[in-house]
Amino acid sequence: MKALVYHGPGIKSLDERPKPALAAATDAIVRVTRTTICGTDLHILKGDVPTCEPGRVLGHEGVGVVEDVGAAVSTFKPGDRVLISCISSCGKCEACRRGMYSHCATGGWILGHKIDGTQAEYVRIPHADTSLYPIPADVEEEALVMLSDILPTGFECGVLNGRVQPGSTVAIVGAGPVGLAALLTAQFYAPAQIVMIDRDAHRLEIARTFGASACIDIARTEAVAEIMRLTDGAGVDCAVEAVGVPATFELCQQIVAAGGTIANVGVHGVKADLHLESLWDRNISITTRLVDTVSTPMLLKTVRAGRLQPKQLITHRFTLARALDAYDTFGRAAETNALKVIIEI
Ligand code: NAD
Ligand code: ZN
Repeated sequence: MKALVYHGPGIKSLDERPKPALAAATDAIVRVTRTTICGTDLHILKGDVPTCEPGRVLGHEGVGVVEDVGAAVSTFKPGDRVLISCISSCGKCEACRRGMYSHCATGGWILGHKIDGTQAEYVRIPHADTSLYPIPADVEEEALVMLSDILPTGFECGVLNGRVQPGSTVAIVGAGPVGLAALLTAQFYAPAQIVMIDRDAHRLEIARTFGASACIDIARTEAVAEIMRLTDGAGVDCAVEAVGVPATFELCQQIVAAGGTIANVGVHGVKADLHLESLWDRNISITTRLVDTVSTPMLLKTVRAGRLQPKQLITHRFTLARALDAYDTFGRAAETNALKVIIEI
């Protein structure tokens, strides 16, 4: 089969690989029909994720059709259409019983990281019963690719951890797919303001059409002063960091209101400073989280009911044969205006 393989920092290629086989009774083999590329795949290619070793098939998002199941899989059978979660979870270990699937003792974020991933014709899914979700017949599968990772990530790490409430003021730093997913799902709670901050004018334009109440282009406007102007000098109740660089984590510390929350979503490759000298008396909370995908069933219902339209995030489509072009387009988002690129297999 064809697969997109990571060969070390900066090196990837579309290779011929053997089709995966069942390795445990709880596994399923899924024929991938659509996948996508994540900002985290770019982090891997930059060398920011040393736990991902050369030779790995990339990708942790996708939908497909069950091809084969192990003897212990009871929820799925060959032919079922499924959504693949970026987090594999046994459902039984201590972390899973606490709902912290991302820290499953025998799973977590392993797909396209520690085991071969979804940017291929077939993928082996461990703990299939608790790591796949059935796709309802009346839901368009392409839109559901957004539910493998970015929508649960924006919602769980940004909106839930950020304690967004009716009437809250929210700032989301980073209007990439994850920041935009936080923008879409924050609206479940009717916050008073959602301000998007980025340096990409096109992404900010999209954010406005997705419901942002204001947008700040840091290339043109001083973000801290503008947030203070918009919030009568208070700062925001919830500052979501959805970039993953020190400057944006520090910006969140400057704009959070007394009693507020900084919800970090970004994957950080280098140290970022925490300014306790100015925050110690501000009654703030800082949260971090690896997405658990506990909200996937709820998000599926909101998509099915038309309350959430994740398809809006898709800007480009490629075939697997053109996966390298897909990476190039996604990697140059500022020039190509890409948000999420679908790879059809
Ligand atoms: P992305 O790279 O597409 O988007 C990041 C956005 O930040 C871009 O629009 C860029 O213009 C903007 N940006 C860059 N530098 C900036 C700055 N100094 N100030 C303001 N904006 C700036 O990434 P994405 O796919 O949206 O993901 C966002 C982050 O979330 C990444 O770090 C990704 O690895 C991480 N992530 C975390 C989890 C998790 O479980 N915690 C899961 C998935 C992704
Ligand atoms: Zn577990």
